[in-house]
Amino acid sequence: MKQLVFATNNAHKLEEVSDKIKGKIKLLSLNDIGCLEDIAETGTTFKENASLKSWFIYDKYHVNCFGDDSGLEIEALNGAPGVYSARYAGGHGNHEANIDKVLAQLKELTNRKANFRTVISLLWDGEEHFFEGVVNGTIRNEQSGSAGFGYDPIFQPDGYTVTFAEMSMADKNKISHRAIAMAKLLDFLATV
Ligand code: IMP
Repeated sequence: MKQLVFATNNAHKLEEVSDKIKGKIKLLSLNDIGCLEDIAETGTTFKENASLKSWFIYDKYHVNCFGDDSGLEIEALNGAPGVYSARYAGGHGNHEANIDKVLAQLKELTNRKANFRTVISLLWDGEEHFFEGVVNGTIRNEQSGSAGFGYDPIFQPDGYTVTFAEMSMADKNKISHRAIAMAKLLDFLATV
């Protein structure tokens, strides 16, 4: 069976993809291949960061692999927090502080348009392919809901009256940026 390394150790992300390609392609995590290093996300775009991750693995292990990068882009903040989404308020992954910072910056602003974006870089037989997913929405004035993670409590997707954090994981996964990008990746993998 063909193998594919996902440059992540995020169990949820791994499960989401391996579930859909099982029996056809064996999905491996960074732990599975013994890669214990932190791959630095030093790019200024999602595409660059996704690419950094996949090329890091490819150069070192010479295997088919892919990396992903995601984040929130707010129109009135010129696309911020963008690639800095996880560390917008300083420390990595402090979601409460990140949300507080975004709400404070938007306080006087009426343009609440935002989107989540995911970019995937796949290296398959030495060739790079990109897949992108975007979900548009608005930033609420305050948090609502407790499901999900990150900026979910303040992001209301277009066409809905609830935030991502008020949706079930299954419902969010039908429309999320990550799901859209992953579906494109899976469509491609179905052709190899
Ligand atoms: P990652 O590249 O998927 O690890 O995402 C980087 C950061 O973007 C996360 O730490 C969150 O702050 C934010 N983010 C990405 N996807 C989501 C999402 O689905 N909901 C809320 N926040 C997200």
